[in-house]
Formats: sequence, C-alpha cells, structure tokens
Amino acid sequence: MKRTIIAATACLMAACVLNAQELRPEAFDLLNLDYPGLEEVKALHEDGKDSLAAVSLLDYYRHRTGILTPEIRNVKKVKISRQQQQWADDALDHRFFAHYGYQPSYDYGDDIDWRYWPVRDNELRWQLHRHKWFTPMGYAYRVSGDEKYAKEWVSQYMDWIHKNPLVETGGNEYEITDDSQLKADAENSRFAWRPLEVSHRLQDQCFQFQLFIDSPYFTPAFLTEFLVNYHRHAVHIMGNWSEKGNHLLFEAQRMLYAGSFFPEFREAAAWRQSGVDILNEEIGVQVYDDGGQFELDPHYHLASIDIFVKALQIADLNGFRNEFPQNYINTVEKMIVFYANICFPDYTNPLFSDAKLTGKRDMLRHYRKWSDIFPDNLFIKYLATEGKEGALPDYLSKGFLTSGFFVFRNGWGMDATQMVVKAGPEGEWHCQPDNGTFELWYNGRTLFQDSGSYVYAGDKEVMEWRNWFRASAHHNTLTLGNRDFETTESKTLLWQPEGDVQILVTENPSYSGLTHRRSVFFVDRTWFVIVDEAYGDAKGTVNLHYQMPRGNVPNSREDMTFYTDFEGGSNFMFRCFGPEGMSMKKEKGWISTSYMKKSQRIDASFNVRKDDSTPVRYITIIYPKAKAGKEPSMNAKFTDRGFHDGSLKLQVKIGKEKKRTLGYTLD
Ligand code: MG
Repeated sequence: MKRTIIAATACLMAACVLNAQELRPEAFDLLNLDYPGLEEVKALHEDGKDSLAAVSLLDYYRHRTGILTPEIRNVKKVKISRQQQQWADDALDHRFFAHYGYQPSYDYGDDIDWRYWPVRDNELRWQLHRHKWFTPMGYAYRVSGDEKYAKEWVSQYMDWIHKNPLVETGGNEYEITDDSQLKADAENSRFAWRPLEVSHRLQDQCFQFQLFIDSPYFTPAFLTEFLVNYHRHAVHIMGNWSEKGNHLLFEAQRMLYAGSFFPEFREAAAWRQSGVDILNEEIGVQVYDDGGQFELDPHYHLASIDIFVKALQIADLNGFRNEFPQNYINTVEKMIVFYANICFPDYTNPLFSDAKLTGKRDMLRHYRKWSDIFPDNLFIKYLATEGKEGALPDYLSKGFLTSGFFVFRNGWGMDATQMVVKAGPEGEWHCQPDNGTFELWYNGRTLFQDSGSYVYAGDKEVMEWRNWFRASAHHNTLTLGNRDFETTESKTLLWQPEGDVQILVTENPSYSGLTHRRSVFFVDRTWFVIVDEAYGDAKGTVNLHYQMPRGNVPNSREDMTFYTDFEGGSNFMFRCFGPEGMSMKKEKGWISTSYMKKSQRIDASFNVRKDDSTPVRYITIIYPKAKAGKEPSMNAKFTDRGFHDGSLKLQVKIGKEKKRTLGYTLD
C-alpha cells in the first residue's frame, strides 16, 4: 500500500501541470471489478475511495503481465526509425503527420485546431484523427526516456477529447439548424468519429498505453479519462460497424485488439467475439475462391492479408487461435500466394485500381511475418529469404479466374518477362473500370505501368484528379469515345497458360452496344501479340490506349510504332495495326506511384471511326528486347474472314525470319 500512496503523490504533482484531466469515477463501472487482480480496486471503490482506487488500478496496469500486442512484445526493446523520430519531434510543435501525401506536415497551431483543413481532400481530414504520430511519440519516449514526449502526448490526448465531442446524429447532421456549435460539432464528428478512424485509434491506443503507462504523466486520473474514452470508442464501433469492405475488416480486427488487450472491461469478451465472428464471416465474403480480395486492388489485397494475419497473431499471443477455423487459415495462405504471383520479381506490385507502389523492404518484412505463420509454405519462405531458403512454385504462368488476374511469365528472376492482365468482375469501391488492362515487367523494369490512383475523394478539384486516374481511357485497354466503361464484368473465354504460345481470351461488355474482346498471345514465352476486337451496334470512335513509360519514347505516327531506348537492358518495340483510317494520338498521361505524387508520360491511342456494326479489329505487337538499335520490321495481318465469335486467325512477322500463325477456336 505504501508504494501506491507514494506513486499517487508523484502523480498528483504531475497532474497539476495538466489541468484538463480529472478523475472519472464512471471508469470503475465500465470494468468488471471481479477480474483477477482488481480485488484492491474493487474494495477501495466500494469504500467510496475512488482516488485511491484509481491509484491501485494504475498500479495493476503497470504490473500486468501476459497481455501483449503483436507489435510491441517488449516495451524495453522498442526501436524508432528516423522517420518516426521526425514525426514525434514535429508533433511537439503541433506539426502533425496526418498523411504521406501532404508533406511536410501542416502546423495545427499552438492551441490545436483539430478542424484545420488546408486542402479539401477528405483523407487529410479523416486521417488527422488517426493520430499517427502518437505511437512514434511513445517510441521516442521509450528510446530516449525523455518525459517531454509523455507530457505532450497526455496533453494532446486530452485536448483531442475536449475539442472533438461525439455528436450522434444517425447521419442527419445537416438537419440540426438551431445550434451552430452543435452543427459544427456534428459536421466534425463525420471526420473525427468515422468508424474507420475510431478503430485506428482503438488499435493504436493499445500501443500508446503500453509505451506511456510508466510515465508520471500517466496519472491515475488520466487512466480513468483514458479508459472512459477508450470504452466510448469501442461502444461507438459496436453500434456503427461499416457496412462492408475493407473498413469493416479493419474495424473487426481492431475490436479484436480492444477485447484482447483490455479484458477488464465488462464487454471485452463480446468485443473480442464480434471481431472473431466478423472476420470469420467476411473472409468468406471478401475473398474469392482463388485468393483474390474483392476490391481487386493489390494495395487493399495486401492490407486485407495484414488484417487477417494480425488477428491470428493476437490470437496466438493471447491463446485463442482455435477460434479461427482451418478454412480461415487456408484462405489467408491463398491470399498470400495470389499476391506473390501478381507481383514482380523486384517485389513491387502492379498499380491496378487504387494501389500504391509497395517496395521490397516493406514486402520482405511482410513475407518474414507470413513465413512465421506458414512455416511449411516453401514459396513464402523463398520470398521471405530472397531465395536463400524455400522453393519456387512448380509452375510459371498462372491464372486466377474468379478474380480475373492472369499472369504470363517465363521465369521468377529479375531477368524474367512477366505480364499481369486484370480482367475480372465488377469489384468494390477501390476497383477501377479498367478491364483488360495489363502491366508488363521485362528484365528489371515495369513497362506499361498502370496510371495508379493519385487521390481518393474530396472537393471538385480533388475529384477531377481522381477521375482522371480512374478513367478507363487512362489504362492499357479499349474505350468508346474515351468514355468510362458502363459495365465491368469480364468473362474468360480461354486461358491456356502452357506451351510455346500461351493464350488468354477475355471479353467485357464495356458499353451498351459495344463488347471488347481481348486476346493475348505470349509467343515463344518472350513476346506478346494482343488482338483487340470491338463489336456491336454502337457508333462512335473506338480508342485503343497504351500508357507509355516515362522518358523519351521515339515513335512514328506513320508506322504506328514506338521504340524505347533506355539504359539498363529493358526495352521494347511496339507496333499497332488497325483498319484503314486509323490515327494515332499522343496525349499527356500521368503515373502516380504514391498518394498525391505524379509524373508525366505519354498516353498513346489508336483511333478508329465506327459508323456501323462492322467490328473494329486491332493487332498490337509488343516485343521486349534488351538493347535498342537494329530494329527488325514488324508485320501482322488477320488471315480469317473477319470477326468471328468462336475463332481467330492471324499472321505475325518479325524481321525476315520469324513468322508465326496465331489463333484459336473456342469450344
Ligand atoms: Mg488504374
């Protein structure tokens, strides 16, 4: 008892500095005081001695053992990266790291303005409320032992509570007209209390709790404030689950954290169970039978693996792995294998849908974590160890037919040729209308990279950029009048992933009156012939788009050719053949590999006027080669009698020697 009284005195002295917090007796009602270890807390509380009960409760938490998060297993061994240190130090001056896309971080003022919104991008305002600098402040505190981080964290934590009241309006905040303050608070709640952000805080506050609990600034009174606030977060999610998609997944996984990390709350078991139940159900809903996640976006696919894996990790750490059936575990493994197949030999991902580029260092970290969970999977081990252990799969090209991802490859090394085609079902919010598009890796570089996404949602200017990057016309595919597809529901007509000529035939009813059939031939496992056929009654201009790599790409409008001349052994020659009257147009294109970052390149389109129901047919040759110069001629022609629903035949010639007849007959 003596020890706790001394602690109380020290804590109360520190508390004087921070007048914004007070002891919240209702915290005791939120806890199951019969939980093992809380006997003294219960007795003091029942005696009406809540100040001492709070001291005892803090003492309990400071000495609690056996409850960990996968992220912080030992607070004495935490490390901090240079970037995290920067975020922590910036935060001392109220320059808050809200978003990678907005650097350097904005200054939110001495008297923090949590409603400051310098660029009207919703993400910037939402993500401020994730408090992404709080945990780095905790690392900085642990690494340096400097109390300034703890003091500032407590101060900001309380400031946030006071200035961001939760106004429950059931989504009708604009109906509040008689109280302008209430109206402003309701509007702010849309950002500060969006369930995704709430869940983010719910998870990260477990880490902050671990990191700061020993500080004298973490007072008994603050503990009660923390618990009341934390409980309010959990209750808010339980009543406001996102309807579906990755938000729901994040929320479920973080609810699992809440229930596991704070088992002392009365509802902890229910929180944990709801997390487990939702994850078990959603893994069936959100993941196709081939392992693809239904946003059809490599970035969200990766994020979803991360969610499912985190749930397994916290279950393992706290002894409830058996609440996840074998089918859940198998699905997570399938998702990893899917991702490993569609990514390139340098560990980067295609930029399809709203994806950003994830680099090798990040991916190695992921694969190592995954390899711990799936030690028997040799492919995962191979990627985790950069080929030092484990083994590659016994196949090369691979199709994921339900998700509509098709990978042609002739190897797994940096010198491989690999094309990833995206041609699947409609997908969810992050999926772009891009059916038939592809990326091509050759000998150390990605050619024909997707445009990426750049930005998500916000005011008019933000939306204009978003729509540019989402547009069907800014992909490697075929459009009508450069318009977005009306329907995105590709069907696979043929997938032949083996042999000297490998074939994919996929078809999307892109517009009312116009269907796009794309046939990709992987010839001699080294070069590609793409046949695009647009058929139906629709009239207008048919556009076949190719997004050229950054840099100088010499081309000829007369011959419809492009030849790269890059250093580093990763080049191609390209020629497009179309009907009489086809014209080539070069427009400004963009590529974005991370949020709010973009660079220029060329969007080339091959345009044909379609005035009747005659199908428009193109042949494109893409011939990867190490060096530019001495370009052989490229020729191609159809040798059938025009478009036929069940077959295709053409002849392709490269130089004088290489002549190939290509085609197929559908069953
Ligand atoms: Mg795209």
